[in-house]
Amino acid sequence: MKKMEIIVVGGGIGGLSLALSLHQAGINVRVYETVRDLSPLGVGINLQPAAVRELVDLGLGDALAETGNATQRLNLCNKFGQLIHSEPRGTAAGYRWPQYSIHRGRLQFLLLRAVRERIGQNFRSGLTFTTFEQIGRKVRGRFRDRESGTEVIDEADVLIGADGIHSAVRRQIHPTEAGPRFARQLMWRAAVEAEAFLDGRTMAIAGHFHQRIIAYPVARAASGKRLTNWLCQMTVPDEAPPREDWNKRVTRDKVLAAFGRWKFPWLDMPALIEQSPDIFEFPLVDRDPVSTWTCGRVTLLGDAAHPMQPIGSQAGSQAILDARLLTAALSAISNPVEALQHYDTTRRPVMNDITLRNRSFGPEAAMQLVEERAPNGFVRIEDVISRHELDSIANSFAVAAGLDVETVNNGLSFVHASREST
Ligand SMILES: Cc1cc2nc3c(=O)[nH]c(=O)nc-3n(C[C@H](O)[C@H](O)[C@H](O)COP(=O)(O)OP(=O)(O)OC[C@H]3O[C@@H](n4cnc5c(N)ncnc54)[C@H](O)[C@@H]3O)c2cc1C
Repeated sequence: MKKMEIIVVGGGIGGLSLALSLHQAGINVRVYETVRDLSPLGVGINLQPAAVRELVDLGLGDALAETGNATQRLNLCNKFGQLIHSEPRGTAAGYRWPQYSIHRGRLQFLLLRAVRERIGQNFRSGLTFTTFEQIGRKVRGRFRDRESGTEVIDEADVLIGADGIHSAVRRQIHPTEAGPRFARQLMWRAAVEAEAFLDGRTMAIAGHFHQRIIAYPVARAASGKRLTNWLCQMTVPDEAPPREDWNKRVTRDKVLAAFGRWKFPWLDMPALIEQSPDIFEFPLVDRDPVSTWTCGRVTLLGDAAHPMQPIGSQAGSQAILDARLLTAALSAISNPVEALQHYDTTRRPVMNDITLRNRSFGPEAAMQLVEERAPNGFVRIEDVISRHELDSIANSFAVAAGLDVETVNNGLSFVHASREST
């Protein structure tokens, strides 16, 4: 029997994970990425244990351990840095796999290296997807060579749009869809070498719905310091967002004007801002959930399918899980149209639910409750919010997202390696 052939549009975290998964399952894959020479862009992201498990199954466990920082704890604090809630993460929380905080660009390169080793010339860069056509039992993708302007056409059994928040594949499936939905907040992010804060393995979130910071180390630097990722986020009066450009830079002064006083005994946020070489601005956006990701032999994955607000540190992890579930469907169901439908009807409702939950602050909702109940700080957190309330917020979210300890530790492996790929 002829092997199934798949075109993947986009070589980000989701597209590369999908390429590795399909290859592992013995399915032919060709990836098309618009950027000709990728560079390690972005700052920090988190890989939850569910996603780490999948990358370990892809043979990337050692590379991840070398590149990322195994986060052991999450602290939620108020805007004065007072501790509201502290919970173990990763192996410290009983998962069989760690949670890694990692530099996004380094993660992309780690995946890219494995993709190039495993599928070679079938990773094709500098080619921008323009449209698809479905002809009989095939789907044809059209790409524009960014250098020469010539058109490249490829044909396969299935085409997957893993082309991020501005997905052109999604636009063709949903031509009348409005642009990204702006939540009237801006995020400023950077990664900077700094002395470790707390134990060097803690992710801290402080503030409330309208103004907050997130900080966590993503790697040990050669200097002995930590490469520390930080994010400052705040509500703004603007009605329209600036363009969602991951590479847009802002001045330190703009960020210091809003966060210059956020200095806690355990974290000096103004110093981190001052020392950061580049600070990037991105609007807080997502998209309304759609009624389908799939059109015949074409479907979506990762941010193309479910761009979500970055709550619960999971966008990258969910893209990896999409890749594994889609590969599992394509391996188990011989008719590709039925396989894509299965992926869509099982995965989409869960991601649509998470996208909407994230709009109401997801697992970080406790911070807003504390701000409303104790805007001037507190002496004893028990007088402001009960342990039961705190735990139920955190647990309900983890279970809905499929990221809880029991699901991750006891679930079966999604993808079984074909003999040829091993
Ligand atoms: C440059 C960049 C920096 C980022 N930085 C951060 C960060 O610091 N923190 C964070 O939390 N998240 C960041 N993200 C988003 C994060 O990577 C995603 O939310 C998550 O990992 C899901 O990944 P994805 O593969 O679905 O999408 P993405 O990671 O966005 O990948 C999409 C890929 O598709 C390619 N592409 C787009 N259009 C086309 C086309 N027409 N034809 C071919 N290829 C196309 C893009 O170049 C990109 O490589 C960044 C994304 C990008 C692209």
